[in-house]
Amino acid sequence: MDISLLVPVLFGWIAGLFINYASDVLPITRQFSQPACANCQTAFSWTEYLTLRACHHCRTRRSLRTWIVQFATVASILYLWLYPPNGLGLLLSLIVLTYFGIITVIDLEHRLILHPTSAFGAILGLIAGTYLHSRINDNGLLIGLGMSLLGGLFGFGVMFVLYQIGALVARMRARRMQAAGQPDDEEEALGGGDVYLLGVLGLMLGWPFIFNAFIIGVISGGLISLLFIIALFVQRRYSSEALMTFIPYGPYFILGAMYVLFL
Ligand SMILES: [Zn+2]
Repeated sequence: MDISLLVPVLFGWIAGLFINYASDVLPITRQFSQPACANCQTAFSWTEYLTLRACHHCRTRRSLRTWIVQFATVASILYLWLYPPNGLGLLLSLIVLTYFGIITVIDLEHRLILHPTSAFGAILGLIAGTYLHSRINDNGLLIGLGMSLLGGLFGFGVMFVLYQIGALVARMRARRMQAAGQPDDEEEALGGGDVYLLGVLGLMLGWPFIFNAFIIGVISGGLISLLFIIALFVQRRYSSEALMTFIPYGPYFILGAMYVLFL
C-alpha cells in the first residue's frame, strides 16, 4: 500500500469528526458547545467524544449517522486525493466538502438550514467561486468575482421566486382546509433556508455552473419524490396530502453542486 494514502485518510477522518460535531451541537445550542449524549444529555469529555465511545452515563452508543459520516468522508477525501478536481484545488475542496456534509446532515435530521451556516457559506462560496472562475481561461480575479456573484444572484433569485410561489400555494391550501373545517398543519413545500442555500451554492459554483447544479437538484429531487409517491401508492397509503409532504430539497441541490464541482 502507498503510505502517502494515510494523509487523505487522516484528513478525511478529522473532517468527519468535525461534521459530526457540528451536526450534533449546532442545531441544539446554535454554537460550538461541549457535546452531550443525545439520549441522557450528559456532557461527553472531549477524549470520549472524539474517540467515538459510548456515553459513560447511560451506555448509549454513538449514532449510526456518526459512523456513516466518518467513513463517507474518508472515502470522499480519498477520492479527491486520487482524482484531484481541476477547478478548486485540494484544500478548498476539503473545506467545501466538510461544509456540504454539515449542511446535509443537519437538513436531513432537523429539516433545518441554519442562518449562521448560510452566512459562513456565503463567505466560503465567494472565495471558492472567485478562485474557480479566475482560473478558467485565465480570467483574473475581477471576472472571477463577477461570475461568482452572478451565480449567487441566479441561485438566490430562482429559489426566491419558487419560494414565493410555494408560499402562495400553501396559503391557498390553508384556506381550503379551514373552509373544510380542518386545522391548518402549516406544511411548507420549500423551506426558506433553501433560498439561502441556493444563494451560497450559486456563489460557490458561479455562473453558469450553478444552472447545471440546479437542474440536477430538481431532477434528482423530483425522481426521488416520485419513487416515494409510488411507494405510498403501492402500500395504499396515498392521499393528496402525501403529495404536499415537505421534501428536504437541500441535499439534492448539494448533490448537484458536488457533481458539478468534483466529478
Ligand atoms: Zn447518555
